[in-house]
This record gives sequence, structure tokens and C-alpha cells, in this order.
Amino acid sequence: MRIAILSDIHANLTALDAVLADAGRVDGVWQLGDIVGYGPDPDAVVDRLRRIGATGVRGNHDAAACGGSEIDWFNPDARRAMEWTRRAISASTVEWLSALPDRSTEGVCELVHGSHREPLWEYVTSEEVARANLVLLEEGVRIGLHGHTHMPIAFVADAEGGGDRARPSVVRGHPGATLELQGRRALVNPGSVGQPRDGDPDASYLIWEPELDRVTWRRVPYDVAAVQRAMREVGLPGSLAARLALGL
Ligand code: ZN
Repeated sequence: MRIAILSDIHANLTALDAVLADAGRVDGVWQLGDIVGYGPDPDAVVDRLRRIGATGVRGNHDAAACGGSEIDWFNPDARRAMEWTRRAISASTVEWLSALPDRSTEGVCELVHGSHREPLWEYVTSEEVARANLVLLEEGVRIGLHGHTHMPIAFVADAEGGGDRARPSVVRGHPGATLELQGRRALVNPGSVGQPRDGDPDASYLIWEPELDRVTWRRVPYDVAAVQRAMREVGLPGSLAARLALGL
């Protein structure tokens, strides 16, 4: 079985379609929130996810797009993009986004956007934060899937000694990197489809093979210039368009 795990698509249909083409035949698509915000295609991205039967959770941008007060915490560019998104999206997009849960369980995996203790807001950026969240994984859940930082990375709890107090080991999700979990607990971040921030502009996602207990990070080039043009045409902030080419 192969599952494609996508996060932080951010209304970038061109990047999403490149990822889906790269993934090929999969047994499921799970998404970890921030479906909209920043990018020019919020309705089209939601339509695509509905059509392929993607399951998953909402992120802080999705909550803000549905009218939530999350927008109050956005920086000026993110806020301008969110105000545009609110005007642009259809009632049916709002309805679909509003129905997304903050967390969901699929087999041994729990899906959240930010972290397991703060599903919408916490950034898992250090071993300390990862450890505090690894111990919160519920009975039967071994793998925490999250996005929000836009960084492809994993924090793996060492099976050897130290128990819950040990610092997890960090695995960078370099393009094509495979992580054999071998029954260990881990937090895994696929990176961002629509707005990577690790210095590589290619769309980032993850393939999960449950029977092999293995995840593989993948990177996919897409037509960044076309997305930048579309963003400028609808009046989204130029700095948000510029950063796509840098992957920052
Ligand atoms: Zn995001």
C-alpha cells in the first residue's frame, strides 16, 4: 500500500497537480491542512482534493478562510492574502473547509496541522517540542503526521534506552530520502506542496508505505513562474510570489 501525504498546499494548484502526477497510483491521499491561503487557486485546489477523495485536517489558514479570528495573528502579507482568499472562495469551499477536523486518525498515524498538543498553532521546530508531542500520541498511534513549518523533517523516538525522556533523533527529509521506522514512534513532516521554505522551490511531499513501515520524501519541480503570474494578476502581495522561486 502507498499513501501520499501532502501538507501546506496553500492554494497552489500547479504544484498540487505536479505532486499528484509524480505520486501516480496511490491507495490514498492524506492532507495536513493549510489547503488555502497565499496562493491563487483556493477553489480549484479544494475541488481537486474533493475529486480525488483526499482525507485530512484543517490548518490555521483554512480556519481563517472560514471567517475565524486566526487572521488576527497573521503578518501583514499573510493577512492581505487571507483577505483576498475570503473574498475569492465559494460558499461550497467554505462549507467543505469548515467540516475538516483538527485531528484525525488513520491506522497507526494521527494527522494534525501544527502539533498534537496544539493542532492549529504549535510549530514543531526542535527536539524538545517534538519530545513533548511524541509522549502525547495516544494508545495505538505511533506516527504523528504534521505540517505547518513547511520543513521536510522527522523526529524519531529512539527504541534504545531513555524512554520518553530521551531526545528524539532528527532526520532531514532530503529529496528522495527514505526513513525506515522499524516500529519506532516518530513525528514526520512532509514539507510543503505549495510554499516550501527550506531553500528548495520544488514541491515537497511524502509517500508512506505501511506494510514496509517506511516513509520517503519526494520533490517535484513545477511551473513556479506561471503561479507567480497568476498571483500578481489577482493582486496577491508581490513578496509572496517572489518567495516561491526561492523556496523561502
Ligand atoms: Zn502553512
